[in-house]
Amino acid sequence: MTLATFAGLPDGFLTIPPERLSELTPELSLIKLEGDDPRPIVISMLLHGNEPGGLRAVQHWLTARGDRPLPHAVWLQVGNTTAAAEGRRVLDHQPDYNRIWGRSHKKTNALMAHHKEAQPVLAFDLHNSSGKNPHFAGVHLADADSLGLAAAFSDHVVHIQGPTGLFAQAMAELCPSVIWELGPPHDEQGPRWAAEVLERIVGQGAFPAADPMSMVVHRAQGIVHIHRETMFGLGPDCAVRFVPEIESYNFQEQPAGTVIAWVDDMAEDAFDVVDREGGVDVFDALLAIDDGKLVLTRPLVPVMFTTDPAVIRRDCWGYLMERQPATRAPR
Ligand SMILES: [Zn+2]
Repeated sequence: MTLATFAGLPDGFLTIPPERLSELTPELSLIKLEGDDPRPIVISMLLHGNEPGGLRAVQHWLTARGDRPLPHAVWLQVGNTTAAAEGRRVLDHQPDYNRIWGRSHKKTNALMAHHKEAQPVLAFDLHNSSGKNPHFAGVHLADADSLGLAAAFSDHVVHIQGPTGLFAQAMAELCPSVIWELGPPHDEQGPRWAAEVLERIVGQGAFPAADPMSMVVHRAQGIVHIHRETMFGLGPDCAVRFVPEIESYNFQEQPAGTVIAWVDDMAEDAFDVVDREGGVDVFDALLAIDDGKLVLTRPLVPVMFTTDPAVIRRDCWGYLMERQPATRAPR
């Protein structure tokens, strides 16, 4: 299978808005920039078409550094440009482009074979988060090099144990690999901060390491789904009514007893709360319904909770996480 690759930046790349990027580069293409060391640093953006932060970060970064030579080759991996043209995560006929890596998908398999042969030294995958979240980073392996890439970007680090099929997970088998979540899609601060950290790491060739012994990571204890047919949201008529401040709880540890929603009698079975690995039901370990209130039964950190019904139906309401030492065996 032939991959769409570009030697050097296509004209206009540094200023093009995400919705017009498909005019320059097809889906899942690679823009290869030369560096002193040919082993590339891979930077992925726009795997989700409605998450423009990665493109903006790379545009800020490369505009600021001009023509200065790069210590390593840089491969910019451009994701779902057709969905980006419509400002959507994916189009109806498409798979989610961040769930197909290491699976039987021809194009991502060809890309991975190409990456592997080039012996990449680092991998970044840039996203925006749904819901109001601070900038945070995710790693699949809690080793010093991967954690270093995460900690350089944010104090909030998630040790990801699912879902599978993520680009960063596939890359973690080849080199230190990290996901950076640059805040909500139209936050301009996230891309600017990411550009600064990219310059430090990729531009200066200073690869950070973190001491796993001294680091705390977030690990998901439960992923909270709400049944599609349930009326949920912030409105007074909803059978599951979110507390209005739910998104501001993200990455803030909440004590046991914290109310996260009010629930009508009829809707008490509207939740599926499963652990990351086997899909085991963990509702009773984390939550309780007490006098019409959905409450946490132990201290937990809500992460990526959202009030956006489309995201909740397609993905989930949010993750309940725990802070744990990075060195502790994941569970
Ligand atoms: Zn994303």
